[in-house]
Amino acid sequence: MTSMPQELRPNAWRIIEQLPVPILTMDMSGYLTSWNLAAQALFGYTAQEAIGRHVLFLYAADSAADDPELIELQPGTSGSVMEVWRRKKSGENFKAMLTLSVLHDDTQQPLGLLAQLSEVSQTLPPQDRQKLHSSIIEDSDQGILITDACERIVSVNAAFTTITGYTAQEALGQTADLLRSGVHPADFRAQVRAAMLGSGPWQGEIIGKRKNGELFPQSVSISAVRNDAGQVTHAFSIFSDISILRAAEERMQHLTNFDSLTGLPNRTHFHQVVDVALASARRHDGYGAILALNLRRFHAVNDTFGHEFGDALLRQISQRLREALRDEDVLSRFGGDEFVVALLDVHKREHSGIVAQKLLTALKPVFNIEGVEVHTSASIGISVFPEDGTDVATLLHHADIAVKRLKTEEDSGYLFYSLEMDQKARERWQLEGELRQALADRQLQLHYQPKVSLRSGKIVGAEALIRWRHPTKGMIAPGFFIPVAEETGLILDLGDWVLQEACRQISVWRRSGLEVPLISVNLSARQFDPLLPTRMQAVLEHYQLPAASLQLEITESLLMRGAEAAIQIMNALVAMGLALSMDDFGTGYSSLAYLKKFPINTLKIDRSFVMGIPADQNDCAIARAIVTMAQQLRQEIVAEGIETREQMRFLRALGCDQLQGFLFSPGVDAQAFETMVRTQQRLALD
Ligand code: C2E
Ligand code: MG
Ligand code: MG
Repeated sequence: MTSMPQELRPNAWRIIEQLPVPILTMDMSGYLTSWNLAAQALFGYTAQEAIGRHVLFLYAADSAADDPELIELQPGTSGSVMEVWRRKKSGENFKAMLTLSVLHDDTQQPLGLLAQLSEVSQTLPPQDRQKLHSSIIEDSDQGILITDACERIVSVNAAFTTITGYTAQEALGQTADLLRSGVHPADFRAQVRAAMLGSGPWQGEIIGKRKNGELFPQSVSISAVRNDAGQVTHAFSIFSDISILRAAEERMQHLTNFDSLTGLPNRTHFHQVVDVALASARRHDGYGAILALNLRRFHAVNDTFGHEFGDALLRQISQRLREALRDEDVLSRFGGDEFVVALLDVHKREHSGIVAQKLLTALKPVFNIEGVEVHTSASIGISVFPEDGTDVATLLHHADIAVKRLKTEEDSGYLFYSLEMDQKARERWQLEGELRQALADRQLQLHYQPKVSLRSGKIVGAEALIRWRHPTKGMIAPGFFIPVAEETGLILDLGDWVLQEACRQISVWRRSGLEVPLISVNLSARQFDPLLPTRMQAVLEHYQLPAASLQLEITESLLMRGAEAAIQIMNALVAMGLALSMDDFGTGYSSLAYLKKFPINTLKIDRSFVMGIPADQNDCAIARAIVTMAQQLRQEIVAEGIETREQMRFLRALGCDQLQGFLFSPGVDAQAFETMVRTQQRLALD
């Protein structure tokens, strides 16, 4: 019996009653007012049981919260469709599509709601399910193979054929031995059987064999199929070809362990290999050595010929080094121009020196790259196991210290690490930190050493010399910290400070009315870059100084960075009105050919020649030659480091113009220098 809502016209309800679609109505508060036969069939409640109850009793246990029917009571939202969860009388929850419509009376007032439900089928009919399963098997990109209780193949899929090369016809009736490579783990079959007797599948990686004989790694899962009586009727293996994965893994492995340019082991791999070797050397009281090899001036090759050329050179170098070594020696490239060799079996410390020499010799013959001939050389630092360290990191660090030491001496060759080097390296490191601090904390100061004319005895100039008032160590001489600053690049900041400070002092003196003689400032080769003229201009402008109030002392070492480039920068500085002086002349690379090209107006004879005057014949001859040459080039000659009157007389007789040395005065602070100038202190010339 179906109760009919008064509001619905009898005919309309009769039709609804018969419809195969579950339909129910409710009033505006959610109480059921009608219930058709299809609703009864779906939910299992008769109309009598359902009508009059609140619609919530049909909701699945935890779906009451979203209460869609009640939300849908809003007029104007009629006809919406949604997916909901409901519960049957049997207690079973099910998913349904719900369509809701608002019912109106003749005056368009809402009367209630009409809900139409249809169950969303969760399961497939058996024939569809089978179709689905077989298409999943067939389309899978994993190979699938099914065997019967006698272990004969009864079914394979398309991927099986793609991977193994066997067609279904070829495989059916055979056993899985068809794919055996013979390199399975010894107890492979036993393992599989054991797994089948148990509950889970056997899973693992094995090597299979394709029809063409090729072996391939596969990842396999083998499971048993049992009948209702629990007997194994079939087994199926699902496998995938993981050779691509393996190849990628191997490539990755290679990339992380080997240098892509030379194919040599890289730093990581070197550490691994040598760590193991050292551990065994420790057990056998063996010796070992690490040779850190840096190419000399390799960056110049890169700069001149380009990176591809540089790469080709590195490849050839690595070949030569490899050939010079024994098979058991480890050669590796750490990047750039850094190669490292581990000798794992040396009987004496000296033997590693012999190997180093062999490597240097191997690099001697000219390299030919794309028809261009290049020479190269290297510095090698050696640390020996166990004396210089017992682990790779320490040995590498020490070999590095030794090679750095060689490099600062601009020398190729090899050098053994020593404890004293380590000490020096530590001190340098500490010094660098302190020097940075000194710059920030204004611990630096300029002293001025007068230059006097050898004609008049008057002060005609001064050299600004940097001093470091260390808070605990007292006054530190530049000879101690300038080389560290050069090595670390700190010289750029330091040099800027010196320029600023000298200009500031000159401007203070000028404003106080002092007749300031020409002040010269030392420049490091590293400061000598194309932007130097611009920087100089800015400082001069800032202190409103004419360029002629400053002279720059440069050394021949700046030629190391390329003579032509250096000459261009010099020309720019001279064009601004600055004077240039060649410092320490005779000690460096002294290329007289270049000296003619340099726009310098002053030459300083180095103290090392002055020292031997007048007793040492050689020094006297050199001094004479330098003076003669400078006179021809019309350069002023300053002799530095003059301590005795004999030296003064000799050099004056030669024709030197100026003297700088302790004979007249050491470098003194700005205040003291000002006093010397104001009181017109003179050098007695006799
Ligand atoms: P330098 O430019 O050749 O400076 C001359 C050095 O000789 C100074 O040493 C000076 O004090 C010393 N000297 C002068 N007359 C005599 C003498 O009669 N006897 C002896 N024994 N020595 C004398 P200092 O000040 O120790 O400077 C050493 C070097 O440090 C300088 O050699 C220069 O290359 C470098 N230096 C000094 N100040 C600076 C600077 O501000 N910047 C740069 N880049 N280098 C600087
Ligand atoms: Mg100087
Ligand atoms: Mg000098």
